[in-house]
Amino acid sequence: MKIGFIGLGNMGAPMAANLVQAGHEVTGFDPSAPCPEGVTMAESAAGAARGREVVITMLPNGQILRAVAAEILPAMAGGAVLLDCSTVDVDSARAVAAEAGAAGMLAVDAPVSGGVGGATAGTLTFMAGGSDEAFAKVRPLFDIMGQKAVHCGPSGNGQAAKICNNMILGVTMIATCEAFALADKLGLARDKMFDVVSTSSGYSWSMNSYCPAPGIGPASPADNGYKPGFAANLMLKDLRLSQQAAETADADTPMGARAAELYATFVEQEDGSGLDFSAMLPRFEKRGRG
Ligand code: NAD
Repeated sequence: MKIGFIGLGNMGAPMAANLVQAGHEVTGFDPSAPCPEGVTMAESAAGAARGREVVITMLPNGQILRAVAAEILPAMAGGAVLLDCSTVDVDSARAVAAEAGAAGMLAVDAPVSGGVGGATAGTLTFMAGGSDEAFAKVRPLFDIMGQKAVHCGPSGNGQAAKICNNMILGVTMIATCEAFALADKLGLARDKMFDVVSTSSGYSWSMNSYCPAPGIGPASPADNGYKPGFAANLMLKDLRLSQQAAETADADTPMGARAAELYATFVEQEDGSGLDFSAMLPRFEKRGRG
């Protein structure tokens, strides 16, 4: 298949490399990232999109996605699919899909979970929104770049699934970290805390698979000086997207709102920028109630 790939950063580059490895012809564009092996670079986003059956975007935010879509849609052939794998706001995903539809193109929003490790290994999970026809066309590409793709409904529903999942993740990570800090102060050893909670009703992915306490549970960024992993900055981005969506939909999300506030403080006023999102634990360790 002839594929355009726009946005070849930490995630996009290994995803594009996996498509090349599987035998697809990939033309890429990125104003600053280096060219992944086997990808032919175009001089513009429109150049990477022209004549392609599928154009994949992996970009930082909805504003950039909207600008790139405005540039590439006039260059794309009728019936081609715009497959956005970035994490963006639901409104931008729906607006871009509507523009694609009006221009005779198909659109799928398919944000991912699995991080750079999953992108490199080809084991991402895709959460997709779009028509059955559009999903069917890009499904073979999901099978190369990932291990699971869930069709969540019409356009925007992939982004909705992503931000709901990550809102739960942010909240449970904070809860896990503050519980460890409380256990420390109560004289409860961390390995005993893990042993109990990981097999009791307080368990979660944050505790069981990505434990924020170094040396406890399976290997995680806590064992590597809190080097990401999944950066606190990206968690803050996703929590803000969840609150933006909650505002638009008039949904009451008090825990999500508080998690967004805490990650904003951690990243913007404390030392959390560039650290893994589980580094909330050393943050709580240092604090008292005052
Ligand atoms: P990144 O910053 O490494 O890559 C983004 C790339 O987009 C950069 O190389 C940048 O030069 C390029 N870009 C910016 N403007 C552009 C334009 N107008 N045209 C073409 N390219 C442009 O970010 P990333 O970590 O690869 O993340 C990409 C997306 O994936 C984000 O939406 C992020 O939230 C999401 N995501 C990231 C992770 C992760 O662990 N890194 C996990 C899940 C989802």
